[in-house]
Amino acid sequence: MNAQKLSKRLEMVASFVPTGAVLADIGSDHAYLPCYLVHKGIVSRAIAGEVVKGPYDSAVKQVRTEGLTEHITVRLANGLAAVQPEDVVNTVTIAGMGGPLIVSILEKNPESLATVTRLILQPNIHAKVIREWAIANGWAVSDEAILEEDDKIYEILVLQRGPESLTEAELLLGKHLIAQKSDVFVKKWTREIANWQRVLTSIEQAEATAEIEAKRQELQHLIKLVQEALA
Ligand code: SAM
Repeated sequence: MNAQKLSKRLEMVASFVPTGAVLADIGSDHAYLPCYLVHKGIVSRAIAGEVVKGPYDSAVKQVRTEGLTEHITVRLANGLAAVQPEDVVNTVTIAGMGGPLIVSILEKNPESLATVTRLILQPNIHAKVIREWAIANGWAVSDEAILEEDDKIYEILVLQRGPESLTEAELLLGKHLIAQKSDVFVKKWTREIANWQRVLTSIEQAEATAEIEAKRQELQHLIKLVQEALA
């Protein structure tokens, strides 16, 4: 992967960035995503935020090597603290982290989202907590994608401001992903059901405490919920 040729995962993230967006990429590592978007003419101004010195240095170096210092500002900062009001950022990408870490970044500096109209989030795990955060904070899930790369399955969530209400299944699986029902989506959740079934089988042999019984009921509920969404 480099700034000209992104991974399939980051390319999909990039595909949701509108032309003309003013972007902040949080957790930018090598700044590949903002560099790629500037090279493609999709954005002309971007912030690349990184909290760790090593990846920050890599991002600074990459932006210089690509000749993009006029277009991309790299900042060493925790999460959205990289965004300043005068940047007037309207699109934020946060990719390659767990859902809970993405949510903690969104919650820590809500003032940095004042001018933002689109969030493009790619949680490696626990997309559900992002959907829960969206509902609680006035963001609607406007689009979703799922893809497989190097034997890993990734979800991408696009949020725009607006009211949202999701069923339990939509919170867990994603309403757009349920509607699309792609092969990768079916593979992910078929695998998840098999995992839950394995746990069920193993706890059925354990002593029937109240805790075990609660776990058994929870797993049976999840299996039914997902099976219905896949049907
Ligand atoms: N976004 C790139 C991608 O998707 O390929 C890099 C993903 S990398 C696995 C996660 C990056 O996020 C790391 O470079 C890490 O240092 C950075 N990071 C983690 N927490 C952060 C935070 N609170 N603020 C800014 N960067 C953060």
